[in-house]
Amino acid sequence: MTIPKAVLALDDSDSLKHKRGEFLLPKNTVYMDGNSLGPLTRAAKARVAEVVSKQWGDDLIHSWNKHQWIDLPLKVGNKIAPLVGAALGQVIACDSTSVNLFKVLASALALNPTRHIVLSQQDNFPTDLYMAQGLSELLGRARCDLKSVTEDQLIDNLDDSVAVLMLTQVNFRTGGVHDMAKLTELAHKKGILVIWDLAHSAGALEVFLDDCKVDFAVGCGYKYLNGGPGAPAFIYAAQRHHAKMTQPLSGWMGHSSPFAFDHDYQAGDSMLRFLTGTPNILSLVALDAALDVFSGLALGELRSKSIALSELFIERIDATSSLNDLELVSPRNSEHRGSQLAYRHSHAFAISQALIDHHVVVDFRAPDIIRFGFTPLYLRYQDVWNAVEILISIVEKKLYTNDKYLGDKCLGRNKVT
Ligand SMILES: *Cc1c(COP(=O)(O)O)cnc(C)c1O
Repeated sequence: MTIPKAVLALDDSDSLKHKRGEFLLPKNTVYMDGNSLGPLTRAAKARVAEVVSKQWGDDLIHSWNKHQWIDLPLKVGNKIAPLVGAALGQVIACDSTSVNLFKVLASALALNPTRHIVLSQQDNFPTDLYMAQGLSELLGRARCDLKSVTEDQLIDNLDDSVAVLMLTQVNFRTGGVHDMAKLTELAHKKGILVIWDLAHSAGALEVFLDDCKVDFAVGCGYKYLNGGPGAPAFIYAAQRHHAKMTQPLSGWMGHSSPFAFDHDYQAGDSMLRFLTGTPNILSLVALDAALDVFSGLALGELRSKSIALSELFIERIDATSSLNDLELVSPRNSEHRGSQLAYRHSHAFAISQALIDHHVVVDFRAPDIIRFGFTPLYLRYQDVWNAVEILISIVEKKLYTNDKYLGDKCLGRNKVT
């Protein structure tokens, strides 16, 4: 496959090109699924090996203090803070996004006690809706009642009955981005607290939590932050809520003095009260090390390259008549989409399987969407070019009609977000 000189020149002049070497990517693979599971960094691999053998292996329990394991949730939170536009001391890394959402939703409801509606979007990522439903079961609908509306009904539904607006900034399916500043401001005008899920934002877009005066946020450690499978997620809580906020999973690690072993719970300082049980140290160190690839990086630069990569992809698809059946579902205006492109096709599943078989790793979202992730830290312009060339050959040769790519579309447990 020959790559045009102009495309190679884009890679040559790419100011982020040195970052690719910090990742351990399989050979001859175009990885367009970093929005689902970020790849392994050299730093994380080395750090986990060292912590396992030297800290856990040699220093055993002394490592909690000797190697500051106990401080990792806040330390890692402070590394994430600049990536989401937060001043230090407002972010903590722990648990999964789902569990964290449960905690901050309960916190926000408790801070707005005369109201009970949680407003969200019908096509929000399901776990966010499920967690709100679970909390509603627990508290009763008089204290927590989930109301999900379509995207264009959101603003009209911001009224005095709503306690909390709970949204995901970047839609996991279409990549569409909400206007965080505007929605947060409109909600605040009605006395509504706002929670943003940054699963597809953190590490991909410039996010301005403090500037937008967001109340709470959660985000994912294993997608664009490359923290590894099941990496700890994070929580953001605005400083102004720290004194009053509470959360119901009041485990000992969130206690003001866990090792006093008091009978009664007393919430720890600020973000520490969001901890529940013992932190996952091996996962936290992997995330901690992985986050180093962002140090000294201008997020604007990252975003510009992500847009340039996706624009090259769209241009190539648009210019290829045999790909006319692929329908772009993501917003065409790059300002309005995250770091992924979603295309609809009646053979989306088989095409995605054929792409994977040809070492272009993408994912499929039921019923008919192929998602292509653009992760500028390690994806090159030539990779995008190659991915489209392979896509063209799959479609032109109708490889998607091949039995081996038809499979079972209703995969549950064996397909991961
Ligand atoms: C990936 C994702 C999650 C993941 O939740 P976990 O509890 O970490 O599995 C949550 N919310 C959104 C919007 C996501 O995209």
